[in-house]
Amino acid sequence: MKPSTDLNEALMERARRVIPGGVNSPVRAFKAVGGTPRFVKRAQGAYFWDANDQRYIDYIGSWGPMILGHGHPAVLEAVQKAATEGFSFGAPTEREVELAEEILSLVPSMEMVRLVSSGTEAGMTAIRLARGATGRSKIIKFEGCYHGHADALLVKAGSGLATFGNPTSAGVPPEVVQHTLVLEYNNLAQLEEAFALHGKEIAGLIIEPIAGNMNFVRATVEFTRRCRELCTEHGALLIYDEVMTGCRVALGSAQSVYAKHIPGFEPDITVMGKVIGGGMPLAAFGAKRTVMEHLAPLGSVYQAGTLSGNPVATACGLVTLREIKKPGFFEDLSLKTRSLVDGLKAAADAEGVPFSIDCEGGMFGFFLLPELPSNYTQVMKSDSARFNQLFHGLLDRGVYLAPALYEAGFVSAAHTDADISETVAAARDVFREMAP
Ligand code: PLP
Repeated sequence: MKPSTDLNEALMERARRVIPGGVNSPVRAFKAVGGTPRFVKRAQGAYFWDANDQRYIDYIGSWGPMILGHGHPAVLEAVQKAATEGFSFGAPTEREVELAEEILSLVPSMEMVRLVSSGTEAGMTAIRLARGATGRSKIIKFEGCYHGHADALLVKAGSGLATFGNPTSAGVPPEVVQHTLVLEYNNLAQLEEAFALHGKEIAGLIIEPIAGNMNFVRATVEFTRRCRELCTEHGALLIYDEVMTGCRVALGSAQSVYAKHIPGFEPDITVMGKVIGGGMPLAAFGAKRTVMEHLAPLGSVYQAGTLSGNPVATACGLVTLREIKKPGFFEDLSLKTRSLVDGLKAAADAEGVPFSIDCEGGMFGFFLLPELPSNYTQVMKSDSARFNQLFHGLLDRGVYLAPALYEAGFVSAAHTDADISETVAAARDVFREMAP
């Protein structure tokens, strides 16, 4: 029977009166898929319960951070202990140093790291650092990649490569994005042309190595190699936005996945978030010492934060990283994700629904398309009405996916084989309803 959503509806109505759109981050409003957002009452392991006490298997995990699942005992203990010792000091703590050391040990392309409170802040500062370190202004980004909502990054492609981007949000003056060049993801010819035209002025190229903000699209190995080579040749900095992929697709993040194909591969600046904070407001950016020494108080690139390196958030991040470092953690998580992905594909095939799906580590993405897309234009060819049918069919059966077709999914260590079987069986039911 379709679960009642009345208490969620009542909360949404109340929320709309005091919070714009009823939500504190737009995608939570279910605008793309329609229907009533679920208000979360509590969560445990792989599940959360909504206002009606309806249980859902959670494949969002706070949009990535909850890699251990909700309420992991070691995390709870560390956070509770840290909270009793103090919430925020505005002065350095040993735990910040420990977390920095831990992050650097996992992602060796960075020799120094600065902790901040959100991925937006980290991405915004990474751009400022690239500009400050090179003395140049222009930035390359790719259509479909999201790097947070800093003004200079809320931009879509202009009319040609000689022109720069257009703002994607009201309130961003065109002058603010005039230095941001937006290219098609995985398009080698455009990349070559952009460097040929603007190479000497480019401070940095920012990319999601596996783009989780157009569901799940990998940069090809060849494209990654050329991004690296062209940045090096032209003196621009390669910025890897690993806010989503960091410690999620592999312990060493997406850069370690590409380094298997491109010996010695490293980005110049890495932006991290989500998993490294374990669900608390914490993010980071890091690079080699020579680049990071441009930051205040050592250098002239300014950046600061009242809550940066927050003691409760760092406790949460630290214990999360120590758990995911345990032998076999990523092998198990990857196998689990793979079994979900294989199960969903087999279910779609059995019902004759065109479907493609991919995963790496604990992150996955699927498309109601026969082939995996390689750029934003192809992703947007997905049929949103059919996606919404799948989304709501699964929601009614207690499976919670991202409420938009351009968002990735996440599996946690708390998901059991039974959860995955339940999900696949629910999906098969919905695919049957969707079959042509
Ligand atoms: N970069 C990427 C790749 C992201 O996925 C996100 C958020 O989803 C951000 C940056 C922004 O992070 P935050 O939402 O913590 O500001």
